[in-house]
Amino acid sequence: MRYLSTRGHADRKRFCEILLEGLAPDGGLYLPERYPQVDAIALQRLREAFNGGRPGGYAALAFEILSLFIDDIPAADLRALCEKTYTEAVFGTPQIVPLKKLEDGFYLEALSNGPTLAFKDMAMQLLGNLFDHVLAERDQRVTIVGATSGDTGSAAIEACAGRARVDIVILHPDGRTSEVQRRQMTTVLAPNVGNIAVAGSFDDCQDLAKACFNDLAFRDHHRLTAVNSINWARVMAQIVYYTAAAARLGSAERPVSFCVPTGNFGNIYAAYAAKQMGAPIGRLIIATNSNDILARFIESGAQSMAAVEATLSPSMDIQVSSNFERLLFDLFDRDGRALAKAMAAFRATGTMRASAAQLLRARGIFDAGRLDDAGTLRVIAEALRDTGELLDPHTAIGYAVARQKRGDPSLPMVVLGTAHPAKFPDAVEKAVGKRPELPERLADLYKRPERCTVLGNDLQALQQLMDTTPVPR
Ligand SMILES: *Cc1c(COP(=O)(O)O)cnc(C)c1O
Repeated sequence: MRYLSTRGHADRKRFCEILLEGLAPDGGLYLPERYPQVDAIALQRLREAFNGGRPGGYAALAFEILSLFIDDIPAADLRALCEKTYTEAVFGTPQIVPLKKLEDGFYLEALSNGPTLAFKDMAMQLLGNLFDHVLAERDQRVTIVGATSGDTGSAAIEACAGRARVDIVILHPDGRTSEVQRRQMTTVLAPNVGNIAVAGSFDDCQDLAKACFNDLAFRDHHRLTAVNSINWARVMAQIVYYTAAAARLGSAERPVSFCVPTGNFGNIYAAYAAKQMGAPIGRLIIATNSNDILARFIESGAQSMAAVEATLSPSMDIQVSSNFERLLFDLFDRDGRALAKAMAAFRATGTMRASAAQLLRARGIFDAGRLDDAGTLRVIAEALRDTGELLDPHTAIGYAVARQKRGDPSLPMVVLGTAHPAKFPDAVEKAVGKRPELPERLADLYKRPERCTVLGNDLQALQQLMDTTPVPR
């Protein structure tokens, strides 16, 4: 399998290269040259590997799917990496992604049982193991630098803590993450982890991280690398849980639809990829909060940037969804040059309009809906009353939009549970009047010591710190 860039760069690369590179040299996102096809026989094989979610089934399914995308890691090693990643010890349950019925026809696939209580662990834990393996093979080290508004940073830190060949430095906006989110980062005391609280906004953090990458001498000296959601390996790892749910509930005559709480479009893009591969998947519903650029696109065909509004579902507070470019690549008939032009114009004008044919194609697969904060609180309360499930604000939006956009009631609809309610205790308490408890593994989170460096919004100070202490503590 070779990978290409969405912006038309001529190079074709293998998996391990793009794993470490993240973004393509022309600023595009990597995609496989074509989607491997899973026919009826292969699907039956996947179903047997998964074995209804019995112990070891998820790891076996992950190995089968990853093998279709990775041909530069020996099969036995890849299998061992999957088995090491998807364990009850890491994900709190032998099923890894338990599937529960919410009401007739509606299911919840819970992806939030990993170490940081959000779905990002599903891919990030695998990435940590893949990095270690590939870096050991090449006898290299890297420094991961990233900016976070909350969930990505903690998932990346958990995945990299204590690893031999990776240092990780995560910038977060001082005082602007939730306390749970901050503590999930700053209480990880492994010597290869550096937390930096920047006096500024999330955008300031992101600008600082980007500036480090754009300083080529600095980038090469520290061998900087990124693990943000544009890394193909994260999308690839997420294909596994869509296939798991589709294999379990669906068949060629009974395709399964998914409703996905969406921000950067990384999670739902993996559903699209699974569908392109031939898994029995029906419609894909994009659920947004009031930052609804994607819902407006599906309605009108126009993407237009707007200011970000802070909501109760902060992991979906985005202006432009970076992974949407991967879908656009297909809507542009995989013409990278044309897409590069369109992206440049989008950056310059703040608006992009799809052609009628492109919009029709997108609507053939996707639907979209939104829910504001008041609705989110209402749905958390209703879901608890009617189904007994305590949902976090992101998942509640998914559930509400799944009901708005139901479609054929005879087909199953799976809502993705992207976070544990205890990760957003303030919103949940506001909705139902009681504070969700942290799972046992994290019960002492509020008592653990924190370690963090506070820094001004100052590139020079950051670079100096990183030059003098390999990992700022
Ligand atoms: C990151 C995140 C999302 C959004 O996922 P994307 O892949 O960016 O669309 C939704 N919910 C939670 C809890 C998240 O952490």
